[in-house]
Amino acid sequence: MARYRGAVCRLCRREGSKLFLKGERCYSAKCAIDRRPYAPGDHGKSRRKMSEYGIQLREKQKAKRIYGVLETPFRNLYAEADRKKGTAGDNLMILLETRLDNIVYRAGLGRSRTEARQIVRHNHILVNGKKVNIPSYHCKPGDVIEFKEKSRGLQRFKDIIETTGSRIVPEWLDADVENLTIKVLEVPARDQIDTLIEERLIVEHYSK
Ligand code: SF4
Repeated sequence: MARYRGAVCRLCRREGSKLFLKGERCYSAKCAIDRRPYAPGDHGKSRRKMSEYGIQLREKQKAKRIYGVLETPFRNLYAEADRKKGTAGDNLMILLETRLDNIVYRAGLGRSRTEARQIVRHNHILVNGKKVNIPSYHCKPGDVIEFKEKSRGLQRFKDIIETTGSRIVPEWLDADVENLTIKVLEVPARDQIDTLIEERLIVEHYSK
């Protein structure tokens, strides 16, 4: 599966905001956007007024980068959000938030979404007792996500939990971190998703 392999901190600097792509480093003084708060490249420090199209495009890019979704799957996800009942923007955010890799991250079982995605892809996860290694798998209320028996004792996961111990798990998830188990309680409402995205701009971008 294709994925972005470049320097991830450049993505934050390009979007002009923290996208939290590197786990604990994002909360430390080493964060690149705190040290160099301007866009990468030769003209990064020059200020240009962005067009309306540019603003909408950047918001879409930001959402893609935060959740680690490439262009075509993101467009498909938007089409699905638009087909569903309700507002396309809310639906899009809910579809992004209920991805399996995001849930592993939100529960504190991955330091970043990238790490959570790798955990899923490396076959550590069961959903309702069955192996699922698809990061974009959409979870629904009642789903139980757990680590495989063989994976539970790995030092890697103990280290992750130690690092993410203070993370606030959203109310729509019941995370038993010690036992590496998460239960999805409900579909999150938009106001339970703390990702700083103005989805209205993404809707406007795709509605042109
Ligand atoms: Fe973005 Fe994290 Fe890098 Fe800071 S450390 S620039 S928040 S990925």
